[in-house]
Amino acid sequence: MKTLRIKVYGIVQGVGMRPVVARHATRCGITGTVSNLGPYVEIFAQGEDDKVDEFIRLIEEEPPKRAAILKVDARPFDNAPVYENFEIIESAKTSGEIFVSPDIAICDECLEELFDKNNRRYLHPFINCTCCGPRLTILDALPYDRERTSMKEFPMCEKCASEYYDPATRRYDAQPVCCNDCGPEVFILDDPEERRGRDAIVHARKILAEGGVVAVKGIGGFHLACDAKNEDAVLRLRQLKHRPAKPFAVMMRDLDTVKRNCFVTDLQEEIIKGHQKPILLLKKKADSDLAADIAPDNPTVGVMLPYAPLQSLLFDYDDEITMTDCLVMTSGNVAGLPICRDDEGARREIAGFCDAILTHNRKIRIRADDSVMDFYDGKPYMIRRSRGYAPLPYMMTNNFEGSVVAYGGELKNTFCIGVNNLFYPSSYIGDLTDLKGKAALTESVGRMQVLLETKPSLAVCDLHPRYNSSEAAEESGLPLVRVQHHYAHILSCMAENDYFGECIGVSFDGTGYGTDGTIWGGEIMRCDLNGFDRLFSIKPFLQTGGDIASREGWRIAVSMLIDIYGDEAESICGKLDLIRKGSFKVYKTMHDGKVNSVVSTSAGRLFDAVSAILGIRLESSFEGEAATSLMYRAMEHGQEDMTADYALIEGDVLATDKIVKNLVEARLAGEDVNQLAYRFHYLLAKAISEAVILKAGDIRTAALSGGCYQNTLLLDLSKKMLEEKGFKVLIHSLIPPNDGGISLGQAVYGMNKLMNGGI
Ligand SMILES: [Zn+2]
Ligand SMILES: [Zn+2]
Repeated sequence: MKTLRIKVYGIVQGVGMRPVVARHATRCGITGTVSNLGPYVEIFAQGEDDKVDEFIRLIEEEPPKRAAILKVDARPFDNAPVYENFEIIESAKTSGEIFVSPDIAICDECLEELFDKNNRRYLHPFINCTCCGPRLTILDALPYDRERTSMKEFPMCEKCASEYYDPATRRYDAQPVCCNDCGPEVFILDDPEERRGRDAIVHARKILAEGGVVAVKGIGGFHLACDAKNEDAVLRLRQLKHRPAKPFAVMMRDLDTVKRNCFVTDLQEEIIKGHQKPILLLKKKADSDLAADIAPDNPTVGVMLPYAPLQSLLFDYDDEITMTDCLVMTSGNVAGLPICRDDEGARREIAGFCDAILTHNRKIRIRADDSVMDFYDGKPYMIRRSRGYAPLPYMMTNNFEGSVVAYGGELKNTFCIGVNNLFYPSSYIGDLTDLKGKAALTESVGRMQVLLETKPSLAVCDLHPRYNSSEAAEESGLPLVRVQHHYAHILSCMAENDYFGECIGVSFDGTGYGTDGTIWGGEIMRCDLNGFDRLFSIKPFLQTGGDIASREGWRIAVSMLIDIYGDEAESICGKLDLIRKGSFKVYKTMHDGKVNSVVSTSAGRLFDAVSAILGIRLESSFEGEAATSLMYRAMEHGQEDMTADYALIEGDVLATDKIVKNLVEARLAGEDVNQLAYRFHYLLAKAISEAVILKAGDIRTAALSGGCYQNTLLLDLSKKMLEEKGFKVLIHSLIPPNDGGISLGQAVYGMNKLMNGGI
């Protein structure tokens, strides 16, 4: 017989935790109590030793569907009274660590009610319950109750109130509970005919069915939607949004539709149906009838299921309209900018992209773009961590103490607030290339500080002097530390793996500001929490043409070929079709005079250049296009071991110029492009692993991060080669390897600095 005091940390509020715990207790014959203390659920469990152990196992392995348990802390409790039964007790909120729930996709029970003619919430676009519905995106402050959400404008009707206060109903304590009588209302924005409610939904469906484009307000912002099977509709949306090739995400009506169009593993099925409903990158089937222009030249497609009831109503409604089962659902924004979340923003920014705007009067407090998830080695590999995941914290075992705010990078911005050993990466803000992005960042940081009831004493930002994110950090008025971009990537990978020892970091990325004022991006560095040493980089090259070079890989290629071949470069560029006839001299002059040029070790640009040299993509219409195409071509070739008959390391650089030279000559000799694409990945990974081994000394841990590690072929090759040499290799899973992940690394760095009195 023993008594344990058990604390369950994580998302344990508003997810039906206590009834489930009580049920497990009854099943195991345990007596005691369970209460909700805000940051955690506290359980006193009394019973035979093995029964108590079984009870803990059940809590860990069979929690409520929507709970996210971070830690179960069980300790013996002396002087316990004898409990006669197991009781749920009401308890007061205590302050301390705070867990703000992410938004939760519509649950199966609510979905069933939505389409049940006899239910009083039949076709109600805002149906939700204790287990599902918006959370973060409607929240003003904690504790999470209706008064502090954007639902406070909608007083509950009598029927809803009786459900809300009755523990026996599915809507007990469900803050956003509402119905057709008392809930928010959908309407067509600026509609001369003032269509509202049912008329608005029918109107939107009609436009979609006829091949038009509709902006739809969702949970965390607006989407632009059109029929994903209608080639003309998709092309028109591309023209309206000035987005020639970047893949569109597709929302499919149900799992059967997904399986008809894509290959789905068991794990993918579980996640796509789950309560977070991210966009999953799935392999398309050959007979999929999606429009080819959804994701041109791309074997995968980003797919999600409806997660807001309004989205389900777009697919099914009691009108006579025949609807498609696949809708494009792309973020309603101007390329790269934060997603629109209110009618004003929609009018200003996306009204020109669509035929109608289907909106509603429930305000979105915090933006949340859709999360995007790839897979590697049978596990999730996050590309964008946002709705459904943010702001779920990471709990570190390190004894951190204090409060810091990290402002992230300039592209794919997220920020991260660290409070003691909990780190809360934010939802996705977007690119901060203009002041709107910066304003969105500043506003969101303020909101999260309120929600987490914390006042950071230190701000952290990137080393780049002109980043808008760095400016936002400066304007916070807090003491500020700056962290080198690629070091922050490695720190984020270490933090995600809860590892704080020494490691060799491989940070392969687009661009970031180096400590020497040049552009870095293909770096191998010895790292720990206190700092880094740059051990190797890829061979520096001249990035000519300023910002254009980041879209036009052929410019980098020409620059590299001039370095490698000198005067011979002209004829080689001609043979490779890299450059228009006669214009070589212009570039040569610019290159030699270093006009509008910076020295760069950007791995991202190296990928772009190789894609151009192999004739796959001369330029990119969106970030990563050339590099992604290069990866798919390499994957078509399949696995093969290779050797190089030249040294892959020269001094402190990876001999990437030799690899490029080798590829140029092989291509001119007529070798297969897919094979060469693979050779590039293979030899680059080999150079990386050789470099790591050369300087690792006693260190036996490596960390792989940076945007280039979205490339799962490079990831796979690098990881396996290092593991073969006895390294433990840390990789990302739910924190993106790209710039969306660096705020976590910055926050951990700042926290360490704060504790060691460096400030
Ligand atoms: Zn529900
Ligand atoms: Zn109601």
